[in-house]
Amino acid sequence: RSACPHAPAAIGVGVAAQVDSSEGRVLYAPNLKWRSRPLASDLSRHLQCPVYIINDARAATLGEWRHGAGQGSDNWLCLMVGTGVGSSAVVGGLLLEGASNSFGEVGHMTLVSGGAPCHCPHRGCIEAYIGGWAIGERARRETATGRGRRSLIRTLAGAPQRITARTVFQAYRRGDSLAIRLVRETEKYFADAVVGLVNGFNPERLVLGGGIIEGLPHLLPVLRSAIRSDLPTVGARVRLVRARLGSDTVLIGAGTYALERHRILPVQG
Ligand SMILES: [Zn+2]
Repeated sequence: RSACPHAPAAIGVGVAAQVDSSEGRVLYAPNLKWRSRPLASDLSRHLQCPVYIINDARAATLGEWRHGAGQGSDNWLCLMVGTGVGSSAVVGGLLLEGASNSFGEVGHMTLVSGGAPCHCPHRGCIEAYIGGWAIGERARRETATGRGRRSLIRTLAGAPQRITARTVFQAYRRGDSLAIRLVRETEKYFADAVVGLVNGFNPERLVLGGGIIEGLPHLLPVLRSAIRSDLPTVGARVRLVRARLGSDTVLIGAGTYALERHRILPVQG
């Protein structure tokens, strides 16, 4: 704040959490291990400025809608996959919020009944298969025994506990066989999840962003082919595109949200 020549009129914050935006409260953030935290008022007190908080995936969706890959579309779905999985949807020109502002937690929909443990209290969630933390965890398990111990993944990481999804993608680009298998498995889980989402939401556009999407160069063709073969009717209309705002997408969306909430910009849509 002191480095800024003009005092900000308002600050927007995108949080990886279920958020009650109207109360400015984080309801539940499994990856941050927060529950019922009055984040907006805490930050507002420290920053001496109005603070508005929004779920990070919804912020990304708002950013892409106003300034990026969602421009011009009133029916589209945004899927952001980094450490966790976030999603949000614009339906009929409205950014959906849900009954308690926590719309879009598709990462915790079940993909495999009774499957891998998730960071939420459930098992087999989409995030437990395609989230960055889950890919890293699977790689650490696979490299702990047998031929996996000789995998390039382990060499690149330096130590087993330092293996992450990023290490898997680096080894994949260098042709490591275990990394190739892990990437193929992730693409398959991804395709199953996306087919379900497209079927359920019937979007005209699916915008995909986040570090995991960027690390999987062949993902979009795999998803397009799964949608075409599994959803001949619904799938024919949907276009898969990459998010355009890169790592700034949540920042731009949260800023836009703060300005719109603060009534500086007219609320659109
Ligand atoms: Zn979960």
